[in-house]
Amino acid sequence: MGIFLNHKIRRRVVIFAIGMAAVSCQIAERANDRSPSVRELTILYTHDEHGWMEGVEAGRGAAEMFGLWKAREGYSSDGPYLILSGGDMWTGPAISTWFGGESMVEIMNAMGYNAAALGNHEFDFKTEGLLSRRAESAFPYLSANIRLKENGEPPEFVTPYIIEVVNDLRVGIIGLTTTSTPYSAFPDYVAPYDFIDYHQALADILPAVNADSPDVIIVISTFAVRS
Ligand SMILES: [Zn+2]
Repeated sequence: MGIFLNHKIRRRVVIFAIGMAAVSCQIAERANDRSPSVRELTILYTHDEHGWMEGVEAGRGAAEMFGLWKAREGYSSDGPYLILSGGDMWTGPAISTWFGGESMVEIMNAMGYNAAALGNHEFDFKTEGLLSRRAESAFPYLSANIRLKENGEPPEFVTPYIIEVVNDLRVGIIGLTTTSTPYSAFPDYVAPYDFIDYHQALADILPAVNADSPDVIIVISTFAVRS
């Protein structure tokens, strides 16, 4: 996950806590001659969940993590929080894989995820499985670098980016899918798609994101992007 400032407006982001899969920001507004105001945003972030809703070990599942978010991060559904996934939501233990990821979608819906990036493992049950999970999800699947080979357009099951408004902050959230997907997923399952270069994809989408006047832009994925 990366956090970028929108350089078109004079704002400053200070990351003061990273840990327990949470990133908190204080965003100080210094626009024009108004006195500075500080707004808080806490991002609760997971990736590569891989179906481990019950946890790799007892007591380390999704329910326990959600409890920690409440107890340690003060999470409440109407507070200044975003819950995001970098992708690879399913394929792992039997309860996830047997049901094609359906159980993970139920859990992530209940936890109130705002968005997930599209990971390579989201194709493990073919495009048909992905379409079913997408239809069940209360949150969008984000990817700015997947294109249909037949026409160069993003497929309908993805959204390149969204703008979420939290605590009066406009947060642009862009998803990226690993360019290893043609061989880290079943090649036949992803044959209709191209996964284009990350920098090119961001260069393509940033004008549209900036036109939506974000205060801060976040890129989520299953891999690290270095600028
Ligand atoms: Zn993974």
